[in-house]
Amino acid sequence: MTLLELLTDAQQCLRDKGIESARLDAELLLGHSLGLDRVALYCAPERPVSGDEEQAFFELIRRRAAGEPVAYLTGRRDFWTLTLAVGPGILIPRPETEVLVEHALAFLVSLDIARPRVLDIGTGSGAIALALAAEMPQLDIVALDASAQAVACARGNAENLGLADRVRVEQGRFPEVCIRDAGCFDLIVSNPPYISAADIETLASDIRDFEPREALDGGPDGLDVYRCWIPQCAPLLAANGCLMFEIGHDQAAAVTGLLAAAGCYRGIEVVRDYAGCDRVVLCRRV
Ligand code: SAM
Ligand code: GLN
Repeated sequence: MTLLELLTDAQQCLRDKGIESARLDAELLLGHSLGLDRVALYCAPERPVSGDEEQAFFELIRRRAAGEPVAYLTGRRDFWTLTLAVGPGILIPRPETEVLVEHALAFLVSLDIARPRVLDIGTGSGAIALALAAEMPQLDIVALDASAQAVACARGNAENLGLADRVRVEQGRFPEVCIRDAGCFDLIVSNPPYISAADIETLASDIRDFEPREALDGGPDGLDVYRCWIPQCAPLLAANGCLMFEIGHDQAAAVTGLLAAAGCYRGIEVVRDYAGCDRVVLCRRV
């Protein structure tokens, strides 16, 4: 078979299982199994594929057809300008989280501080912390996660990207964790678990059955972490420091209400993502 014939067969196989991104997924998995990027695939559509190559590729297609996310099969996902290693047990970084990165950078650039301090709570693969560190060499970042698997993944990504000296990854459950040198962060960011119990059951099966529950589950109404963390973040923030959360598309009113009720934040704003959904809330410590 040729590359093109193989791709066409694999695409059909994934489409038959109702996978909307069938073509893209087939390309990413074929590229991964042959060690080629997508452009290289298109440059050699008539390249013959050996029996062994075909077998290895169709094993990946079989797993994808059974719902496994592409990023777990290839072991990587692009986020911001970075390629991050990911795997089972780690939330796959989402493109909408880049909106939070953009606003965090805008805030940090506006500060007139030599070495701004940043805390990323629930860092997962390290996506947010590493994107910020890659853009601004002067940042001093603590990245925290309750999961040992996530901490190992984020540390590995920091090493691979040459950012380990600027991002200190620590294991601990917020808010109980005792962070070394805590106090006076200029920015606290988080993409916390915010899916409600009812919504978890309706998620696409590749999320619900494969991604870690503790990264997604926000309790009965999805707001457990905001209720708990909003008052707990205030003492860790410098005066005028910024608190920035990713939120679910229908949570803006509830989360801004919790921030206002806490009584120690001002300038509460909601930012939309590129799909037009409310996605980030931000405010300043009074
Ligand atoms: N920041 C990453 C991203 O945007 O791709 C991962 C976000 S994921 C939605 C939430 C992360 O928070 C998970 O890695 C989970 O292990 C972690 N987490 C959940 N509860 C936590 C807690 N109480 N303290 C620290 N980390 C927590
Ligand atoms: N945006 C993710 C999803 O809908 C959820 C991430 C989260 O709970 N923080 O799958």
